[in-house]
Amino acid sequence: AAKRNGGNRMKVFSDQMRVAVHERIAGEKLLRQALDGDRRQTLPVWFQPIVSAATGEVMGAETLVRMRTPEGEILGPNRFIPAAEETGLIVPLGEHVLIEALRHLVAWRHELRYVSVNVSPRQLAEPDFVPLLADLLAATPELDPQRLILEITETALLVSSVDVQERLETIKGLGVRIALDDFGTGYSSLTWLQSVPADVVKLDRSFVAGLADDPKKTSIIQAVLWLARSLGMSAVAEGVEKEADVAALREAGCPMLQGYLFGKPMPPEEFAARLQRSRMATAP
Ligand code: C2E
Ligand code: MG
Ligand code: MG
Ligand code: MG
Repeated sequence: AAKRNGGNRMKVFSDQMRVAVHERIAGEKLLRQALDGDRRQTLPVWFQPIVSAATGEVMGAETLVRMRTPEGEILGPNRFIPAAEETGLIVPLGEHVLIEALRHLVAWRHELRYVSVNVSPRQLAEPDFVPLLADLLAATPELDPQRLILEITETALLVSSVDVQERLETIKGLGVRIALDDFGTGYSSLTWLQSVPADVVKLDRSFVAGLADDPKKTSIIQAVLWLARSLGMSAVAEGVEKEADVAALREAGCPMLQGYLFGKPMPPEEFAARLQRSRMATAP
């Protein structure tokens, strides 16, 4: 009986694998088509507000890419970023996202301080990444490079073959700022904090959600915020969904907040309207 169960498990497993491989191949094909198409249509870039904890004013925006399928369905990045990473298509995709992020920041430069852009390990490892960044910044002289923040995760340090620390120093040399994304979820957060020249820590949603009712989470957040401040870094709490958590984060001294409570990722037109409202609400 055990053997038969084992056999069934094997079959279930191989069926799942077949589906997974299938999905990946389909995903890769869709992504190639999207990159060959009118990228602003097929790979729209959305923005999520990042607000000041003190005033509620929109200070920045995180750039989050989407895919519009030929059927008109909008797919989240979890559906195609892994395939993009595996195939190397993350390089042209990442370039598109950077171009779009900077283009919108130029348009919003009087209302918005900064945009942040997610950069995957593979992109960071690419030798052409820094020259690309330098070219894009040179093409937008109206923007101080400080107004661009690159969000990286700890996996960049783990999987990359290049000297990530050195690459990040070069990027910082351009004036661009670095944020540690999903901070606290990795295996070696303290090593990460010590070895990377970061300007911002983004506290992962898992520590933020339900903070107000959880003394342990509160302690962890307070300690990380203290650490960040001591190292001269700013901090953003991710995944803020509840007013009670806002109060707890304010009390803990978290300077910036991001989450559905303040706005979901939205198309640029909608974000522009949100920016106007934020300005009017906080105008003297
Ligand atoms: P991330 O960088 O940690 O981005 C935050 C994710 O959390 C976003 O999901 C956002 O929609 C979601 N989120 C924000 N506030 C809340 C909240 O209050 N509650 C909940 N439940 N979720 C919230 P999204 O847009 O699906 O992006 C997922 C991940 O895909 C991102 O995680 C990022 O790692 C990656 N990604 C997105 N765009 C890009 C890109 O252009 N390049 C690369 N390399 N990765 C990207
Ligand atoms: Mg991010
Ligand atoms: Mg994050
Ligand atoms: Mg995340």
